[in-house]
Amino acid sequence: MPLLQIRHADFLVGQKKILDDLNFALEEGDVHALIGTNGTGKSTLARLIIGNEDYSLSSGQILFDGQDIGQRSLYQRAQAGMTMVWQEPALFEGISVRDYLSLGHSLANLSDCLAQVGLAPDDYLDRLLDKSMSGGERKRIELAAMLALRPRLCILDEPVAGIDLISIDNILRVINRIKQNGSSILLITHQEDVAGIADQASLLCGGKIILTGSPDRVVSQYKSRHCLICNGQECGYAAA
Ligand code: ADP
Ligand code: MG
Repeated sequence: MPLLQIRHADFLVGQKKILDDLNFALEEGDVHALIGTNGTGKSTLARLIIGNEDYSLSSGQILFDGQDIGQRSLYQRAQAGMTMVWQEPALFEGISVRDYLSLGHSLANLSDCLAQVGLAPDDYLDRLLDKSMSGGERKRIELAAMLALRPRLCILDEPVAGIDLISIDNILRVINRIKQNGSSILLITHQEDVAGIADQASLLCGGKIILTGSPDRVVSQYKSRHCLICNGQECGYAAA
């Protein structure tokens, strides 16, 4: 049984169909890359999975560990083991990095988790997650939280975006470490070099998953660029 399964998902905003009978499965233990042109609905799908309060499916199901979680709150989904690193990292005014990473538990390895994302623990553990931190620093800290908390599912929405280029290899190493810790990962990206580390990949176009397979196969289809502008109606890949 897949850890995460999405069945016949539709999501409409007004008349516009953003997801259109989308089907998807992520196997436990896998890094599964979700690839697609900008604006195809990758972040929307992530918000629907994690339970963002403004997003719920128009029809279809989201199953986590076999349970339909479509009606559960973001908090209940977090308790079930789903976590997310947002494309635009959030601000947690008034929370220290230490409290954020440990969620109130006394975890021993916080310093190690920060070091793995390239942040000096002594400089960061007692800092507040506020406006004084850059977006890249906040994103690294969100990744460190994935290492510390070992959730069942991590959704990483464009984890490399906003972090200086020099550290892509470092972030890919961190993603591999999160996997080694036993978490499954939905790795959302439009960058083929990032998708290359996945076990499986899926291509999102026209509101549907149109191909699932090895990252090589899916990236080569993506690069064929039949679908530079996705209007959500016609699928250039399908027509190719
Ligand atoms: P991606 O992450 O693949 O770049 P997004 O999921 O951010 O794409 O956006 C997909 C499309 O859905 C865009 O056209 C976006 O404007 C639209 N969209 C997403 N959420 C909403 C919303 N709440 N209201 C209106 N349009 C939305
Ligand atoms: Mg996005």
